[in-house]
Amino acid sequence: MAPPVWVPCVIVDDDLRARLLRVRERIAAAAEAAGRRPDDVVLLLATKTQPVDAVRAAVLADRAAGGGPLLLGENRVQELVAKAPALADLGIPYHLIGPVQTNKVNAALRVADSVDSVESVDLAQRLSDRCAHRERPLDVMVQVNVSGEPSKHGVQPAAAVDVACAVAALPGLRLTGLQTVGANSSDETEVRAGYALLARLRDELVASHSPGTSEGLQLSMGMSGDLEAAIAEGATVVRVGTAVFGARPPQA
Ligand SMILES: *Cc1c(COP(=O)(O)O)cnc(C)c1O
Repeated sequence: MAPPVWVPCVIVDDDLRARLLRVRERIAAAAEAAGRRPDDVVLLLATKTQPVDAVRAAVLADRAAGGGPLLLGENRVQELVAKAPALADLGIPYHLIGPVQTNKVNAALRVADSVDSVESVDLAQRLSDRCAHRERPLDVMVQVNVSGEPSKHGVQPAAAVDVACAVAALPGLRLTGLQTVGANSSDETEVRAGYALLARLRDELVASHSPGTSEGLQLSMGMSGDLEAAIAEGATVVRVGTAVFGARPPQA
């Protein structure tokens, strides 16, 4: 019997396509309910634990369906380093959305198009030092812990504007917005209050007229379970994993 012929292709399974369409519909409905345009909300695919083929399939399915603005995001430096080069041909910026340990800064910088999880001036300074020679500064967001849950990363809300101003002033960086992970709660009022707080902090930041804070700053907030609440409060980026890719195995 002849050996099977290997045909390189990407098989987009119908479930993935259907889930993706559903997420795009949810974004569009939430944007319209808030009097905003669906294209004002960027879908960032949170690709943790997903193999490169699944990520590629999702991107191609979204493009085929005329999806809308799209980004990729990884929460671990090691996974980002492994995946970003294999997907670079798609031309979609890959954001680092999880914590950056000091010993991973160099690795992160080799592949991340943006670091959305800056949570200290110290980390920002390290990033800036290594990017000062670049033609373009590195895009960064400051992560804020709006819920105050101790397990969550991010600057405390009371310090957020000061930290963001300090980050925005660094020569190697360009502050593009604020990121948060919302409250882990089934109480929608509480979840929305956290997102409203991030929007207020952004407004305060813009009103500060500090160097580097005047451009349209993004609000990266909302995930699979609560993207409607985030869009209602002004999210310009929603980060979605399970609603597109299906349930993940628990991470070690
Ligand atoms: C995994 C992850 C998401 C997406 O979470 P889902 O609930 O799977 O949509 C968003 N943001 C960050 C920082 C993540 O690590």
